[in-house]
Amino acid sequence: MWNTLGGEMERFLLTAGGRITCLRCTAKSSRTKKQCGRPALITSTTTVCQFHGGRGSGPKTDEGRSRIAAAHTKHGEYSKAAKASTSAGLAKLSQLEDVLYVLKMTSVKRSQGRKPLGYKPVRTIKDVFELMFDTFPNKPRC
Ligand SMILES: [Zn+2]
Repeated sequence: MWNTLGGEMERFLLTAGGRITCLRCTAKSSRTKKQCGRPALITSTTTVCQFHGGRGSGPKTDEGRSRIAAAHTKHGEYSKAAKASTSAGLAKLSQLEDVLYVLKMTSVKRSQGRKPLGYKPVRTIKDVFELMFDTFPNKPRC
C-alpha cells in the first residue's frame, strides 16, 4: 500500500528477480495511459527514467551557462565574435579592392562570389573618400 503513488502509480520496482528494490519511473504513457516500467535514475530529482527527462535539462543560471560554455569552448575561432571580426575584415578587404578599381590602379579580373556581411560597395570617388574618413576618423576632412 505504500508502494503506490496516488491512484495506480507504483513507487517502487523490483528488479534482478526480486533482489533489488528501486524507484520506478513515474512518467505515464499518453498512448496506453500506463506507467513507465523502467527504473528511475538515481540522480533524477523528479523520479523519472532517462527517457522521460531524468537526466536533467542543463544549467539554468547565467553563471552556470557561461561555465558550461567555457568548458566546451576549444579555441573560439568559430564563436560569434570571431566570425563577426573575420567578416568585418573581409568586408574591408573587398572595399579596398573596389577602391583599386575606382582609382583605376589595376586591370585584373575582379574577385567573384558573395561579398561578406557588412560590405558596402565603393563605386565612386566620393565613396572612396567616405571609406577613407571612416577608416581614419581622426584625420582632418578636406
Ligand atoms: Zn520512464
